[in-house]
Parts: sequence; C-alpha cells; structure tokens
Amino acid sequence: MPSVLEVRGLTKKYSEGDSQVKALDNVSFSVEQGEFVLIVGSSGSGKSTLLNMIGLLDSPTRGKVFIDGMDTSKLDDNQISSFRNKKLGFIFQFSNLLNDLTVLENVLLPRQIAGSDDTARKEAVELLRTVGLEDQLHKRTNKISGGQAQRVAIARGLITHPSIVLADEPTGNLDSVTSENIVKLMKSMAKKLNQTFIIVTHDRQHFGHADRVVTIRDGRAVDETFDETFDETFDETFEDTLEVAT
Ligand code: ADP
Ligand code: MG
Repeated sequence: MPSVLEVRGLTKKYSEGDSQVKALDNVSFSVEQGEFVLIVGSSGSGKSTLLNMIGLLDSPTRGKVFIDGMDTSKLDDNQISSFRNKKLGFIFQFSNLLNDLTVLENVLLPRQIAGSDDTARKEAVELLRTVGLEDQLHKRTNKISGGQAQRVAIARGLITHPSIVLADEPTGNLDSVTSENIVKLMKSMAKKLNQTFIIVTHDRQHFGHADRVVTIRDGRAVDETFDETFDETFDETFEDTLEVAT
C-alpha cells in the first residue's frame, strides 16, 4: 500500500517585484493512513503554502505531491478538481459555511457536488450526531456559535470519505477551551474512522495530541519541535491571533 501522502522535495518560490520569496524549501515527508499530523511553525514560516500544495490549490515550483500513490503533477486542471473533491476534505479557520443553508445542508453540499446518492443524508445526520450537533440539524449556520460552526465544518470535511482532511488553523478563531475541544474532536474522529488529518496550527497547547509533528521554519521541515527559536516567535504570533480574534 502506498502512503496516503508523500511530499517529495517540495519547493515554492513567489516573485515579488524584482525579488523572490522562497516560501518552501525542499520539504519531504510522508503520512500513513489514520495519522493525526500537526504542521507547526511561526507566522510566515510556510505552513499555509505547504498545505495549499498538498490540497492541490496551488502548484509547486519544484517537487511533487503523491496522494494515494498518484503523482498529482500528472493531472490536468479538470482532473485536479475532481481528484480534490474525491480525495481531500478541507476545514478552514473561518468555517466558510453558507449562511443561507442549514447545518445539515452545509454538510451535504460536498456530497451533492460529487453526485447524488441515497445514503448521504443518513451519513450526514450520523456525522452531525458524532460531533454533538444532532439537535441543530435544521438551524441556519449564522445562528450557531464559532465552536459549533467548526464542528459543522469537521462533519462537512468528512462527508465525502476523503483520503486526507486538511485544516489550516482550524482553531485560530476560537477561545482556548473551545479550541482544545475541537482538536480533541478531530483526534477522536481520526481514531474512530482511521481518518488521516493534517492540521496547521501554531498553538502549542495542541502539540500533545499529534501522532506526529512536522515543524516548518523558514520554509524548511526541521526535526526539533520545542526549540527556543520557536518559543520566541510563538508569543508574537499568539498576540497576532488575539488581535484578529477580538
Ligand atoms: P504561514 O502560513 O506559516 O504563516 P505562508 O505559507 O502564508 O506562512 O507564507 C510563507 C512565506 O511566503 C511568507 O514570507 C509569505 O509572505 C510568503 N507568501 C505567501 N503567499 C504568497 C504570495 N501569494 N505571494 C508572495 N508571497 C507569498
Ligand atoms: Mg498560514
């Protein structure tokens, strides 16, 4: 069986006027099915760039992303869209729910895009029960709290049975208790469903939940997690987050 994800020599350069930013520099690692992986690092280190490459939302300057053994650089634009819809689930910082729809309708949406089927509704209700929202099914999503919205986003991310669920700072907009509960919920879903999660965070309270931590510094994957450089930049980043949250 191939790894669920293999990232090989991933490099991304952005041009800015005359200068170039190397946002990712030769990053390689692989992830097995059911792993709960955190990608950590300070602000600007390249975490979102990495997640966008894995999510096939942007293409690398150099290097490759293999998902379930498929070399994704071989896919054309149309194939990438359907491959993404089939293989990947996304959870964002601001849950990106459609407020005109109910909780249940939001969860069903990715399945409807993939094509109609008989079991979708039953599965969506079951997922929403698992994330503790069985009594909110028919509420509009502008009537629920931030923590509840992320629970809906988790159910929506899982409804297509993706190979990987990708989440970029999914708790960045939540208070620390709610944030901890959301990470624990994702971890329990990973174990219950043998579901692979790759989650970007800079919040060290979550590190203990990871099966594995990939630390990014200046676009490179480094081994040490709790090193001093990270500690220093952590506080600044945390203050940024508080500003956004208030
Ligand atoms: P993180 O998610 O860890 O905060 P990013 O991946 O967003 O970091 O950014 C990594 C680096 O790449 C930063 O220096 C950022 O300014 C730069 N960068 C990100 N996206 C772009 C872009 N679209 N154009 C130019 N520079 C970018
Ligand atoms: Mg980011």
